[in-house]
Amino acid sequence: MLMPPFELHHPQSVEDACVIAAGLLEAGEEFDWVAGGTDLIPNYKWHINTKPHVISLAKIAGIDSISLTEIGCMARLHDLAEGGNAHPLVAEAASKVASSLIRRNATLGGNLCLDTRCFWYNQTEEWRSSIDWCHKCDCGTGSDCRVIPNQNELCVATYQGDIAPTLMVLNATAHLIGPNGPRNVLVNEFYQLDGMTRNILQPGEFMLKVTLPDDVEDWIGAYRKLRVRESWDFPEAGAAAAWKKGDRSTLRVATTALESIPRRHDEEVAISNGDVKAICNAIYDSTKPVNNTALPPRYRRNMIKILVKRACEE
Ligand SMILES: Cc1cc2nc3c(=O)[nH]c(=O)nc-3n(C[C@H](O)[C@H](O)[C@H](O)COP(=O)(O)OP(=O)(O)OC[C@H]3O[C@@H](n4cnc5c(N)ncnc54)[C@H](O)[C@@H]3O)c2cc1C
Ligand code: SF4
Repeated sequence: MLMPPFELHHPQSVEDACVIAAGLLEAGEEFDWVAGGTDLIPNYKWHINTKPHVISLAKIAGIDSISLTEIGCMARLHDLAEGGNAHPLVAEAASKVASSLIRRNATLGGNLCLDTRCFWYNQTEEWRSSIDWCHKCDCGTGSDCRVIPNQNELCVATYQGDIAPTLMVLNATAHLIGPNGPRNVLVNEFYQLDGMTRNILQPGEFMLKVTLPDDVEDWIGAYRKLRVRESWDFPEAGAAAAWKKGDRSTLRVATTALESIPRRHDEEVAISNGDVKAICNAIYDSTKPVNNTALPPRYRRNMIKILVKRACEE
């Protein structure tokens, strides 16, 4: 579990970060962004898709602010959960991520851009070499996916971040920046259904901040999570619900940890005419988790009905 060598870059400003990224891209050098490092560093120690360069966002001033309508990418989850400035739904999800120690370092940007997970992939190099690798980290062997083989190029590793579904139901916008300038996209449209591509970030781009609509204080909701150990485990399934105070017809529901992306279920809510039981059944019908996390897919799928019901009843 020795850390592989890489060159660490420490930009002091957003502009610096874009210049460094542009330079590395031009030189044909691969790199990763790192924020709190609570996911990237363990993956590097296991030699999972490491890069020769890593650009840290940690020394850029002013990108860790937290308010009701704006959260910087370097905002620590501990501050989101306990600082009293974030929307209560976002604070609730942040408080359920990992352990209190990890939340001191973990950031919002890292959580939203979290790598997808799979028990054939999140293993040591020796373990993976003993089963001859898999498609997401094939070490040049052209190995197939071990969960669903013979399915062309797709990886079905699971996105197991807790905060994305809460931002989806609050209609938040992700602000991205890179060598080609800034652009904005709804968090709802940020993710891409492939465990390797993961999201729409272009080479050299990173997530700068997330903004929430001006009327977000009028919205309430809840986040419910299934995990093996309450003390620190990733979600095996998660459901967020939000609605405008006093108007249940505005209900929005999103789920996480059931596929390669978190997903908002507008269609399932719309066809159910506000009936919570019907919404639970429609979401159950539309989700098909695969066998690559700690708990069996059938159990996770059954549990999503319970989690959605509890989140809506809150
Ligand atoms: C034991 C353990 C338990 C955990 N439990 C949970 C859990 O219950 N729920 C959960 O959601 N997570 C969990 N995690 C994962 C992780 O700790 C959190 O998701 C955390 O919020 C990641 O943030 P970070 O700043 O540490 O990310 P990093 O490790 O720094 O980065 C994570 C990924 O995001 C990319 N990245 C980081 N910042 C940006 C940015 N601004 N723009 C673009 N890309 C970026 C990195 O390149 C990397 O691919 C757990 C981790 C561990 C070790
Ligand atoms: S889903 Fe398949 S390709 Fe993706 S990490 Fe798992 S085994 Fe590898």
